[in-house]
Amino acid sequence: MMSKIRGRCLCGQVSYHSDEEPAVQIMCHCPDCQKQTGTAFSVNVLVPTKSIIFEGEARRQYVVLGDTGKPVVRNFCGNCGSPLSTEMEGFGNLAAVKAATLDDDSWVKPEIQIFSDTAKHYCTPNDELKKWPRNPAF
Ligand SMILES: [Zn+2]
Ligand SMILES: [Zn+2]
Repeated sequence: MMSKIRGRCLCGQVSYHSDEEPAVQIMCHCPDCQKQTGTAFSVNVLVPTKSIIFEGEARRQYVVLGDTGKPVVRNFCGNCGSPLSTEMEGFGNLAAVKAATLDDDSWVKPEIQIFSDTAKHYCTPNDELKKWPRNPAF
């Protein structure tokens, strides 16, 4: 069976795949996702960090400390700038794959949304989805 988690950046120099099924699908309104993506929120599908295999030497990483005090590692393409995934040690060692970079995202359906406290006024949270004001206590 083709894995669902298979995608690439805008220029195609960095690609990734994972054989794991997504654990959960999340809309994130955090300020860091907003800055990194240049838009109001990001839609992510979460799989174990270790399951993701990257290909392409253009991959770069940007690391900050998250709310949990553990590193948050953002993988992106150093050539075209596309954000690809965010590794969250403080979040069960899961990685948030940017859903719009998937080759096939027809199955994507966000289940929850986080950091609704910092949602942009021009793109408000979806009231049909369960909201967490900041990081959910998983
Ligand atoms: Zn690229
Ligand atoms: Zn975020």
